[in-house]
This record gives sequence, structure tokens and C-alpha cells, in this order.
Amino acid sequence: MQKKEMFSNLSFGGKLQTIRCECGQKILVIPDVKEMGHAIESHAEKHREKERIPDKGNSTFERIQDSLIEQLLDLASLEGEREKSNLILR
Ligand SMILES: [Zn+2]
Repeated sequence: MQKKEMFSNLSFGGKLQTIRCECGQKILVIPDVKEMGHAIESHAEKHREKERIPDKGNSTFERIQDSLIEQLLDLASLEGEREKSNLILR
């Protein structure tokens, strides 16, 4: 199965899925692995910029990114594709 086909499962039925950051920001799930990864990264980057201590910024970045990716995988697992999406995203 192609990556794009697999990811398009996330918007099955035309219903848009979102993942939610701990800050309350919602991120629209789009059927494009690269774009989605970019959206998650740029949001996590915003959290990093808010931290004054660089080390803390890095761990915040990773925490936010992990949490968003986890939600994404949870959505993907609804379609029984968790293992495959894990391989793609990690
Ligand atoms: Zn956030």
C-alpha cells in the first residue's frame, strides 16, 4: 500500500480529523505524511521558542512532537494501520 493511500484513511468519509496540542491548538490531519510532519514540527517549534532555557526548549519540542505524533498514530490505528504509520513517521 502506498503511503498516501494509507494516510488518506485518516480523512475517510470526508470527515476532517484533528489532533490537539496540550496548549489547546488544533492541527488538521491531512493525508500527506510530509506535510503532516511539517505541521507538527512547526507547531512544536513555537513551544520551543517560548522557553528561555535552550535545554528546556528542546525537551519541550520533543514532548509536544511526541504527543502530537502519538495522537496521529491513534487515529491511524482506528484503521488498523498503526504499525505501518509507525514505520513511516519514526
Ligand atoms: Zn501547542
